Amino acid sequence: MARYTGAVCRLCRREGQKLFLKGDRCYTEKCALERRSYAPGQHGNARNKKLSEYGQQLREKQKARRYYGVLESQFEAYFDMAAKHKGMTGENLLAILESRLDNVVYRLGFAMSRAEARQLVRHGHFTVDGKRVDIPSFLVKTGMTIELAEKSRGIDKIKGSLEANASRVVPKWLDFDAKNMVAKVVAVPAREDIDLPIEEHLIVELYSK
Ligand code: SF4
Repeated sequence: MARYTGAVCRLCRREGQKLFLKGDRCYTEKCALERRSYAPGQHGNARNKKLSEYGQQLREKQKARRYYGVLESQFEAYFDMAAKHKGMTGENLLAILESRLDNVVYRLGFAMSRAEARQLVRHGHFTVDGKRVDIPSFLVKTGMTIELAEKSRGIDKIKGSLEANASRVVPKWLDFDAKNMVAKVVAVPAREDIDLPIEEHLIVELYSK
């Protein structure tokens, strides 16, 4: 699966918000947004730029896409999937994005960023229901068990992330046994479990045009 390989801090500056794409650095004064809180490019520093309705909808979609590191075509496929499910399409969309295996690995604290989590999954460090899964976009479902592979338990980077993230609150749709490095999906992610400042109704409006 292709992915964005450009300078990720530009994405935060574009959205005018921290998207926490670089792990540790995002929490320090080295964060690019702390130093230059305007959009990149020649006109990025222009003040009082008022966005059109379409512009706001587009920015919200881009922000969601960037949080989860998903390319346009896959995001559209998720939207179609969300629209077919029962309930609110926007909330369904966020639940699908949250259910990606790379996001689950990040939410459990095994990685400092979703990009890092994606790499860990690709390298085969996790199993789902006892079988190795190396597809970051794999969607977990209620009842599934996600576990750090036995052979990967001694990796310093993973141990360091777990330590650094020990105080991170694991969403309640995941039941995490940190001692045994195994988690069970106990529910579908609900909107109140997703702590990202995304106005999903704007994304629905964008795709409904
Ligand atoms: Fe965004 Fe992190 Fe870069 Fe700051 S350091 S601009 S939060 S990716």
